[in-house]
Amino acid sequence: MTQPLNVIVAGGGIGGLAAAYVLARAGHQVAVLEQAHAFGEIGAGIQLGPNIFKMFEYLGLAEAVNRVAFFPKGLGMNDVRTGERVIRVPLGDTALAAYGYPYGVIYRVDMHDVFLDACKALPNVTLRTSAKVESFEQDAAGVRVQLAGGESLQGDALIGADGLWSRVREAVVGDGKPRVSGHIAYRAVLKREEVPAHLWSDDVLLWGGEKTHLVHYPLRRGELFNLVAVFHSSKYDEGWNTFGDTAELNERFAQALQQVKELLGKIETWKMWVLCDREPVKNWTDRRVTLLGDAAHPMLQYLAQGAGQAIEDAVVLGEALRYTQGNVEDAFQKYQQVRYLRTGRVQLTARFYGDIYHAAGVQRELRNQLFQGGQEAAGFAGLKWMYEGIDPKNLFH
Ligand SMILES: Cc1cc2nc3c(=O)[nH]c(=O)nc-3n(C[C@H](O)[C@H](O)[C@H](O)COP(=O)(O)OP(=O)(O)OC[C@H]3O[C@@H](n4cnc5c(N)ncnc54)[C@H](O)[C@@H]3O)c2cc1C
Repeated sequence: MTQPLNVIVAGGGIGGLAAAYVLARAGHQVAVLEQAHAFGEIGAGIQLGPNIFKMFEYLGLAEAVNRVAFFPKGLGMNDVRTGERVIRVPLGDTALAAYGYPYGVIYRVDMHDVFLDACKALPNVTLRTSAKVESFEQDAAGVRVQLAGGESLQGDALIGADGLWSRVREAVVGDGKPRVSGHIAYRAVLKREEVPAHLWSDDVLLWGGEKTHLVHYPLRRGELFNLVAVFHSSKYDEGWNTFGDTAELNERFAQALQQVKELLGKIETWKMWVLCDREPVKNWTDRRVTLLGDAAHPMLQYLAQGAGQAIEDAVVLGEALRYTQGNVEDAFQKYQQVRYLRTGRVQLTARFYGDIYHAAGVQRELRNQLFQGGQEAAGFAGLKWMYEGIDPKNLFH
């Protein structure tokens, strides 16, 4: 490396911390500015495809992740009304053989902690809470970031990892508010002992119905059980982390099998998310300022890739800075050039998968027919481009 840079990261979610870790590991000085009073994540699960485990290995974090992850046996979809199996793709050794890396699931808090601990172990990362980025300005010499409260910080570069409602994006891309999809997610986590044996599954299991689905899987080595119920609703405009309305949920799942209703009934309080995304863009960089994760390419959760794509972003950003020997503007251009099409493809494909999960009428019958009868390998193969991931050593020539 030539000169270590002073990099400011707005946002201390999974994406921001991943970027901080990658850049600090390469010798740069990194300041993470998080608006919340503490670093943390909400209690819910995330799925991690083989492409993300590839990144963990590259980052030297595989062992830390493996200690807290759960490795499901399969990825399945059942019809929520009839219980009929639509598809089941075996994971475990099959995923390993196909991609060289496993498919896992993890408690978000645990995932966030892996990156937080990794950052804390590096002396050149400064982690600041109650530090809300309000605005920034830049010139040929650097970037000046203004915090709420009046303080300002000077750096060589700014990475906006400030999520779906990104302030930094507003200034760089300026494409208004995120697109409200009309889909709502209710999330809850149960302890293992709260789930009756006949309702437990070691698979990531999705129950698809008309404009609804429920997905569940174990977390934290099997000590917890994650549930996400998704349905179409025009009731809410936007929101994040508020409480759900159990009556509305029950109404949406009125057609579901008794077994599914029984599982839903185990939850007293649901946390609610209004699901949003954006149209993909080709440019999310302005000279010394770029975006990463949801700030750059927010996506619906139907492919379970948002956090994973943020981690891939961080790796590519690190490689771009290395390749350009710390030339920030050049590196940021190269980074987005490598990332925009892949992340755009995930954004658009995720919408399509939402339609498949929530199919009704003839579409539903057709889906069930297409997936059945030995098409299981094809179900997974359709996402080969995504699960194969990126090759960090061969990004730039
Ligand atoms: C229902 C649901 C299920 C999902 N399932 C999966 C899954 O299975 N697999 C997967 O990979 N992904 C999944 N995702 C997507 C994943 O949660 C996101 O893509 C990921 O959290 C994005 O990380 P991020 O760091 O970019 O943004 P965020 O996690 O939103 O973090 C942004 C951070 O920036 C901070 N911030 C915001 N504004 C400012 C500011 N002005 N100044 C300072 N700090 C600021 C915020 O407080 C926050 O800490 C799911 C999402 C949802 C909603």
